[in-house]
Amino acid sequence: MIDLHTHTTASDGSYSPTELVQLAQQVGLEALAITDHDTLAGLAQARLAANQTKLELINGVELACRVTVGTLHMLGYFIDLDNQPLGDLLDRLVDSRQKRNPQIVAKLNKLGYEITMAQVQAQAKGPIISRLHIALVMLEKKYVRSIDEAFGRFLGDKGSANVRRIEPEPSDAIRLIHQAGGLAVVAHPVHLRSANEQELGKKLKDLVDLGLDGVEVWYPEHTAGMTEQLWRICQRLDLATVGGSDFHGSAKTHIKLGLGRGSLNIPLEILNRLKSRL
Ligand code: AMP
Ligand code: MN
Ligand code: MN
Ligand code: MN
Repeated sequence: MIDLHTHTTASDGSYSPTELVQLAQQVGLEALAITDHDTLAGLAQARLAANQTKLELINGVELACRVTVGTLHMLGYFIDLDNQPLGDLLDRLVDSRQKRNPQIVAKLNKLGYEITMAQVQAQAKGPIISRLHIALVMLEKKYVRSIDEAFGRFLGDKGSANVRRIEPEPSDAIRLIHQAGGLAVVAHPVHLRSANEQELGKKLKDLVDLGLDGVEVWYPEHTAGMTEQLWRICQRLDLATVGGSDFHGSAKTHIKLGLGRGSLNIPLEILNRLKSRL
């Protein structure tokens, strides 16, 4: 079993990179990709921990890209940690978050919720502060009953306290991942919010024309029907098929490392086929 989509405290996961590597060993993973949002900061520590084990660690990243409908998140795999152009983009994305987060907090204050940036900052243990950290503060203060409610009412794209931040164009994300020696894979395509298989196929074909290498076919939120659609599209477009849990630890308790909602169980063969595209 492998897991190619996970988060650590470097972004909005609750396990430190070392703890995640240890958990991966405990659950019997053969390979683990750490794909934190907009940062590679957890990977050096994870590498040190993985070097003591048989676990294969893959340097990953997850970039939210600019799109007009739904959300498009691009996973990068086999990333060179020292690549300057990608590093420059990540620096700009962190800056943009630092400008955005106080604006979200100000909107929440205006709506009558007493939240400070210091409280949000205290939720984060790395360079990335995400909306999930803000949602966790709202949950702790009992302003919402669930993380879902925080996103539905306030923090989601249609929420009353949402503030947009810089997002790279899909073409730039793919180009920079390639420049850093990596492969570009669309995460959780269900969130592209396509009306039907034809529209989903068209969106993925447009990304193939920009250099896309693969698609996250197996994902906890994908129905069997969605997985079948994606499989067919990937065969037709000659795309690599990968899968992952999007593990965040205690921030998303219903998702288990490697297993997702219980039956994800991605085989090592998937990673070997992905590598053949390098
Ligand atoms: P940001 O990267 O700051 O824009 O925040 C987005 C993060 O919030 C994502 O990485 C998810 O972890 C989390 N998130 C987004 N939407 C939801 C949701 N509906 N429920 C729970 N977490 C969410
Ligand atoms: Mn997240
Ligand atoms: Mn994502
Ligand atoms: Mn993710």
